[in-house]
Amino acid sequence: MKGVNQSTTLLKEREDFIYCKDGCQTDTFRCDAESVSGAVSQRACVYCGARVVLNPITDAFHIVHGPIGCASYTWDIRGSLTSGEELYRNSFSTDLGEQDVIFGGEKKLTAAIDEVASLYAPKVIFVYATCIVGVIGDDVKAVCKMAEQKHGIRVIPVMSPGFAGHKSVGYKMACNAIMELIGTEKREKTNRINILGDFNLAGEMWIIKDYLNQIGIDVAAQITGDASCEQLMEAGSAALNIVQCAGSMTYLAKRMEEEMGIPYVKVSFFGIEDTTHSLLRIAQALGNEEALKKAEMLCEIEKNKLQDFLNKYRKNLKGKKAAIYVGGGFKAISLIKQFNEIGIDTVVVGTQTGKKDDYEIISQLVNPGTVVLDDANPAELETFMKQKEADILVGGVKERPLAYKLGIAFCDHNHERKHPLAGFIGVKNFIKEINLSMNSPVWDYIRRESL
Ligand code: SF4
Repeated sequence: MKGVNQSTTLLKEREDFIYCKDGCQTDTFRCDAESVSGAVSQRACVYCGARVVLNPITDAFHIVHGPIGCASYTWDIRGSLTSGEELYRNSFSTDLGEQDVIFGGEKKLTAAIDEVASLYAPKVIFVYATCIVGVIGDDVKAVCKMAEQKHGIRVIPVMSPGFAGHKSVGYKMACNAIMELIGTEKREKTNRINILGDFNLAGEMWIIKDYLNQIGIDVAAQITGDASCEQLMEAGSAALNIVQCAGSMTYLAKRMEEEMGIPYVKVSFFGIEDTTHSLLRIAQALGNEEALKKAEMLCEIEKNKLQDFLNKYRKNLKGKKAAIYVGGGFKAISLIKQFNEIGIDTVVVGTQTGKKDDYEIISQLVNPGTVVLDDANPAELETFMKQKEADILVGGVKERPLAYKLGIAFCDHNHERKHPLAGFIGVKNFIKEINLSMNSPVWDYIRRESL
């Protein structure tokens, strides 16, 4: 663990996944690997990874083949908004029990598909294989194939036993299921784009689409925020894929490039710098000069509108210290840039699924002394947040109680939040939230009480 103050609470096997930026080489830093056994990773399971990617398809049905507990992972966990159907907010389960584990659950799965097909006339059903199904060996693919023939609808297996890796494997399984749905048939090309990896949390997909609309770029398919099955079929006609959540969707973008000839660019709509860069990059990638000029103009106007706001809040926030622990590398990078812009120092930063390239950029952006860690666990986050005296933690639902127990402010930048943090409007929401949370008098009160 290079340059990091060692602690007895940290596991030796985790040393290569953590380093402190102090100018030393980081060649041996490890990421994008299996979690260390017993380390209490914050990563979700394979099934959860698959579910969060597919759930925002608003007119799809989801049958969770497994014990009822797995089905509790549903819309509530990723509150994507819809402009159409509400069906995706339901969750169906085969509710496997002891008898099914002994005698097999295929009959129950067939019955569940029959019931959903007869009651709701769905266009597509995703069937998730969970841990226990991986153990007992039900032939989920065969059941789905028979159901497709019987009902004349798409019944797509998602091979996602929770233990088969971590949530990145689930992302991959979900991408395979999307490819199954959209097919690789050649379609007449248009100059539209597909948006990959935005899940329309708090309506963020609509914000991005509005910017694209203002610069004259149309969207073919949204994968998967506020998507419909019919719209997903349009994906093959796009000239370009833009990838917002790189962790979950780069695999799909690569498959679409190889099998359908659609190139892709990675984007991020978090923060002024990255939103601006992304809009310009999309116009450039399409070779659309008019869109490029409009994007330059739009970003200039929006940036100017934000200046007074930023100046006002900079006074309150300058000199504060932030810890970041999020899913993907691109989000962490955007957050560091946002903090830099407002004068906040990022002292701890980690991701669940970041890649080597992401960590190289992170390392360039942060100041010496910052602790960088991959696939962290609560004990490590606690140790380094205390050691570096972080004033706020930006993370997800699993990190929230940790921050509050330590008396540290928290900002939810994950699936459950109810206000948009993307685009120029998101900059305002984000800064207001971190200001409210960090400068709340409650933290002084807690510190005084604990003395
Ligand atoms: S780890 Fe296994 S049992 Fe738990 S939610 Fe995931 S698939 Fe279900």
